[in-house]
Amino acid sequence: MTRTVDLIARKRDGGEHSAEEIRWLIDGYVAGEIPDYQMAAWLMAVRLRGMSPAETLALTRAMVRSGEQIDLSSVGPVVADKHSTGGVGDTVTLVLAPLVAACGIPFAKISGRGLGHTGGTLDKLESIPGFHASLSSAAFRAQLERVGVVVAGQTAELVPADSLLYALRDATATIEQESLLASSIMSKKIATGATAIVLDVKVGEGSFLPGLEEARALARTMVALGQSEGRRVRAVLSDMAEPLGRSVGNALEVREAVATLRGEATGELLEMVLALAADLLLLAGAEAEREAALSRVRRIVETGVALEKFAAWMEAQGADPGIVEGRGLPHAPLAVPVKASRAGWVTRVHSLSLARAGLLLGAGREIKEASIDPAVGVVIEASRGTRVMKDEPLAWVHARSSEGAQAASKLVREAFAISDEPPEARSIILEEL
Ligand code: URA
Ligand code: CA
Repeated sequence: MTRTVDLIARKRDGGEHSAEEIRWLIDGYVAGEIPDYQMAAWLMAVRLRGMSPAETLALTRAMVRSGEQIDLSSVGPVVADKHSTGGVGDTVTLVLAPLVAACGIPFAKISGRGLGHTGGTLDKLESIPGFHASLSSAAFRAQLERVGVVVAGQTAELVPADSLLYALRDATATIEQESLLASSIMSKKIATGATAIVLDVKVGEGSFLPGLEEARALARTMVALGQSEGRRVRAVLSDMAEPLGRSVGNALEVREAVATLRGEATGELLEMVLALAADLLLLAGAEAEREAALSRVRRIVETGVALEKFAAWMEAQGADPGIVEGRGLPHAPLAVPVKASRAGWVTRVHSLSLARAGLLLGAGREIKEASIDPAVGVVIEASRGTRVMKDEPLAWVHARSSEGAQAASKLVREAFAISDEPPEARSIILEEL
């Protein structure tokens, strides 16, 4: 007879489990037959000892099996999806989803809420008046067939094993482990039914696995898991040290996403969106070469076709039509500039300080149960590489109260480094796998 305590002891001592043992453990935990304290001990053993590729695949499969799997095969041969391991000012999904759909590739994603210093797509979408993110799997599939794009919140039926395990990992310091991260992320991707998946794995301070080596290993493991389940997967490694876009805060990020779709934005957010969209076109077989894929997605933005698809998507999920012009979003009562203390070049914008400012203003949540203020946040005026004069605005703090504005401004000021020399040029994408 299998006993949980024996499996804990084996993992504690560096041993390996069979696929059957892992399935037994996950099934038993989801059924409530294995208590939290034993599962917590096993997770810590995994955190310290790691898992083999075979164990990681078995864990991922056991998690997928714990709930419903959405069958999207009726939609077409290829359905695209994307995941990021948690950025600051990362509103890629809001631009990428309609852009890829406008290229004729259905895009379907289940999104989560923000926690701690990272934002969540669901919170951003819910800052749009009228938008409803809660869809049954039948409604999810029906919208994908009709409009070609759908983004919804996670239902209780999708990978319940992950919801339970994530809460336990969060409380036991066992989030940051390659196999646990990879199985958590990829089980949800696999259960959602997409066949072409791009992954943006963050590197550096604030990311789950800050070291380049560890992040690369995580990315490789996730790509391999998807491929084992018959999915086409690509991953990029990107720098978490600086915010991706110019805005941190939910409605502010939606406004930036709309401006990007209108062709009014340049910079790293657009660079990331175009790169991931091109990857999805290549994975889908819609283009054979990267340059061709890139010029096609650029054209789809420039000609307004992506914006049209965004409008159709927003309408399908109940949003106020004014959103296509960026209208109707909640506004914070105060917008206060943070001014440069000296002249020079902006050489760094520290994303964690901006994220902390956002949290302080109420844009995010420290604990899962907290509510958020969709209107508040920070908008960067002078991004990395900009030359500023003394007292020019570096950023704007959008706040509910002047006390909030003041406290957040201090953090925002600290986020900026200004020096006499311009920073080196760089690409937001460090590596592609
Ligand atoms: N996101 C997930 O879905 N799972 C993790 O373990 C970490 C981030
Ligand atoms: Ca940036």
